[in-house]
Amino acid sequence: MRIGVLALQGAFREHRSCLRQLGVETIDVRYPHELSGLDGLVIPGGESTAIAKLLASHSLYEPIRNAYENGMAIFGTCAGAILLAKKIEGAREDQIPLGLLNVTIKRNAYGRQIASFETDVPFRGIEGEPVRAIFIRAPRFADLGPDVEVLSERDGEPTAVREGRLLAIAYHPELTGDLRVHKYFIDQVIGS
Ligand code: GLN
Repeated sequence: MRIGVLALQGAFREHRSCLRQLGVETIDVRYPHELSGLDGLVIPGGESTAIAKLLASHSLYEPIRNAYENGMAIFGTCAGAILLAKKIEGAREDQIPLGLLNVTIKRNAYGRQIASFETDVPFRGIEGEPVRAIFIRAPRFADLGPDVEVLSERDGEPTAVREGRLLAIAYHPELTGDLRVHKYFIDQVIGS
């Protein structure tokens, strides 16, 4: 099993560390050839406008879409979830998503006062304690397509979703020291 971490901007080191702790071979992805032979790809949180620009300048849009079509799973957190969506609400004009996950996502959707906060959320498919969810200028999922499954919610709103080989989470499991969400991606999403 080999999982790539998109290493253009944002919290890619933290994801790499989670995957390594789980004993998975990881590789930083910055160029198209680095996608070859990957079972999964993590797109980290950060700034989705910056990551989108770098995806374009590194010619990664089509290669990522092709690798996904050919069976690679993708896990996006926060800005990564924004980039997976079919449609971004509040996108800048030059901010093009990969357009794979059948949702509309709204950027910076929590008001300024609560732009960042932490809470515990139960996660469908993960047993035991709820997952600690750290929201940092997080997006909201809206208009979910029929095949999009909700895995965690906060106040009745989806905060983690899955559609087949795509896992998208509005918060940051890579910052908690709890490896269960990464393990879920490996076992349940890639392994399914
Ligand atoms: N607000 C950021 C964006 O729109 C995402 C924040 C994050 O990834 N923590 O890209």
